[in-house]
Amino acid sequence: MSEDAAQRYHRLRDAIDRELRDCGREPGGVTLVGVGKGQPSEVLRASIEAGLHDLGENYLQEARRKFPSLPPVRKHFVGHIQTNKARQIAATFDVVQSVDRPEAGLALSKAAQDLDRPLPVLLQLNVSPAERFGCPPAQAPWLAETLRGLAGLRLEGVMAIGPLTQDRGAVFRAFELAAKTLAAIGGSTLSIGMSGDWREALRAGSTMLRIGEALFGPRPAKGRQA
Ligand SMILES: *Cc1c(COP(=O)(O)O)cnc(C)c1O
Repeated sequence: MSEDAAQRYHRLRDAIDRELRDCGREPGGVTLVGVGKGQPSEVLRASIEAGLHDLGENYLQEARRKFPSLPPVRKHFVGHIQTNKARQIAATFDVVQSVDRPEAGLALSKAAQDLDRPLPVLLQLNVSPAERFGCPPAQAPWLAETLRGLAGLRLEGVMAIGPLTQDRGAVFRAFELAAKTLAAIGGSTLSIGMSGDWREALRAGSTMLRIGEALFGPRPAKGRQA
């Protein structure tokens, strides 16, 4: 890692603004969520000090270990929701992006009511055959309606993970499907685009990018850290 975190942050923001202009969109109109899994707190802290406002984490325990030492940011849960962890997830995060089934919504709804704090959520869509989690697009209207009926939750839009493939057209089409599904169910947040596919995501209308390695550098270890 030769480049420091602040430089990396500003370079990525500039590249995002350039891409937005190239596809005829307003620069600055996209939320950048830094996804910190596997990254030590010091790396995250440097990006936050450089201007990053939103931080995402996949694993509850890792997040709870790292958050106390960080400056205030909006915290997004982007990992798989285990219903028995819903209470801690709702207490630790400001936004939950990965609601992919009614049971997860119900558990978060109870937690949000107990905490007396409305919880913004996104519906996680599955637009890629290799993805393990996410709601099939055909079932999204039904899940959205279910989530809107749950007290304490505020459904703001859709999150999806693009397919892992070199076929840029296939990536773009998967993101278009996510955009179309958002249009069908309503909402203003389209959380698509990671380190390898954020350009396609912006062209498909992404309003929120979730970037790990392209922002923080290579993850020291794959996946979960002790
Ligand atoms: C890890 C992860 C990201 C970021 O991935 P990078 O390829 O490092 O940008 C974004 N979203 C989710 C749900 C993730 O698990």
